[in-house]
Amino acid sequence: MRPIEDTYRHKGLRKKLVEVVRGKGITSEGVLNAIHAIPRHFFLDSAFDELAYEDRAFPIGEGQTISQPYTVAYQSQLLEIKKFEKILEIGTGSAYQAVVLAELGAQVYTIERQKKLFEANKGFAFLKKYPTIKFFYGDGYEGLPTFAPFDKVIITAAAPDIPQKLIDQLKTGGMMVIPVGAGEVQQMKRITKLENGALKEEVFDRFSFVPMIEGRKG
Ligand code: SAH
Repeated sequence: MRPIEDTYRHKGLRKKLVEVVRGKGITSEGVLNAIHAIPRHFFLDSAFDELAYEDRAFPIGEGQTISQPYTVAYQSQLLEIKKFEKILEIGTGSAYQAVVLAELGAQVYTIERQKKLFEANKGFAFLKKYPTIKFFYGDGYEGLPTFAPFDKVIITAAAPDIPQKLIDQLKTGGMMVIPVGAGEVQQMKRITKLENGALKEEVFDRFSFVPMIEGRKG
């Protein structure tokens, strides 16, 4: 069961979480405001009600996780979202990251390969508040050619390599934020598509994500 009440206690815990995330080096006020605004406990089973505001990843079923708030903030900050930008997210999971992007004013297109997780979001009433998020059941490796090009692409699962099809769906000047690595630990990278078609690669900190897997799972 999902909780539906957002109490003063939750709001207080959220304020503390914002300070924890800020303390770890996040400086974007927009991103910190989004974390402050979004009731993260809504995205978890009520069994996690007390824990939802710890800076940790938690299980959301099907062997998947809701990312750690610091990680969500880190990727969101690297994306440098501007209002009305069109963003492609790979790995909807709990939809928390998608809602952070929507709070930043983005138009979000998010893909999930696991049918059960995709269906769970259909029944998640809170998401009705965010008509700027479009949900897709599919293989993120294919992206969404019909809706391309995108201003930004965010991958929220560990990719062994940078998927070329997703680079193709980026606008010139667009950026992709992606944790790259086949092992337990990945390197966060930001790829910018330059005017001449070349790619600029910047390397950031190490993180640990669940793997990006090819194909859909019914
Ligand atoms: N953004 C999520 C993080 C979920 S964990 C959140 O905020 O909660 C990563 C998710 O990526 C999992 O749900 C997993 O099923 C999904 N995933 C892995 N490979 C994928 C692929 N090829 N296409 C789409 N989703 C994928």
